[in-house]
Amino acid sequence: MHAKVWLVGAGPGDPELLTLKAVRALRQAQVVMIDDLVNPALLEHCPQARVIAVGKRGGCRSTPQAFIQRLMLRHARQGRCVVRLKGGDPCIFGRGGEEALWLQGYGIEVEVVNGITAGLAGATQCGIPLTLRGVSRGVTLVTAHTQDDSELNWAGLAQGGTTLVVYMGVARLEEIRQGLLSAGMPGDTPVSMIENASLPNQRECRSQLQRMGSDAHAFGLRSPAILVIGEVVGHAAQQTLQQLAS
Ligand code: SAH
Repeated sequence: MHAKVWLVGAGPGDPELLTLKAVRALRQAQVVMIDDLVNPALLEHCPQARVIAVGKRGGCRSTPQAFIQRLMLRHARQGRCVVRLKGGDPCIFGRGGEEALWLQGYGIEVEVVNGITAGLAGATQCGIPLTLRGVSRGVTLVTAHTQDDSELNWAGLAQGGTTLVVYMGVARLEEIRQGLLSAGMPGDTPVSMIENASLPNQRECRSQLQRMGSDAHAFGLRSPAILVIGEVVGHAAQQTLQQLAS
């Protein structure tokens, strides 16, 4: 065992959606730094480690990013094996890329372990195939939350012909709706809003682009949730109904 930082994807929440490699890293860890969205049940794989909670949910009490990075660096320099456990995949809106580059800049060995990102798990749990021949030939993962509040390229998103999976979108449903509608996406495009994907308290709100804000409000949609926008959502519904009928 030697000084190293593992940036490990914890998956969307279901403890069984963890990779074997993640389990191996956790078993070796001396220090585990865990984010808010990580299911604490995963800590059963590292009873030997010192666990440090470094959650930083948007808008809530937070541990500054610079502090987290310095903490990782300090433990690694003291010769410890550090696991930074992040929700979903570390490099999908998880700052894994930034952290890896920063640590490598200090000569620290870094290994990234993939996790199943929330968008993939959420869609699958709701029976939605993100690609489907003849319906959608691609998937675009996008965050609604930008550092500088800049606008997304709505025209590119609306006209790209791919399924859209939106992260961090709950507080921005109205902007997303308006942006896509004004860029020409049909108002009846099916939408699925999936809260707590893969967890026992998972909930799904099915809607359409033009009324997704009011539907989400009536449903009481809360973060963490992902939005799946595209024709594949409608196909999942049909398949499920057909399955039920057969
Ligand atoms: N790295 C993570 C994403 C972190 S950004 C990943 O790959 O999944 C945080 C956003 O991820 C949340 O605002 C939400 O949009 C989404 N998210 C994370 N976990 C989720 C879950 N269990 N269910 C639904 N959305 C989730």
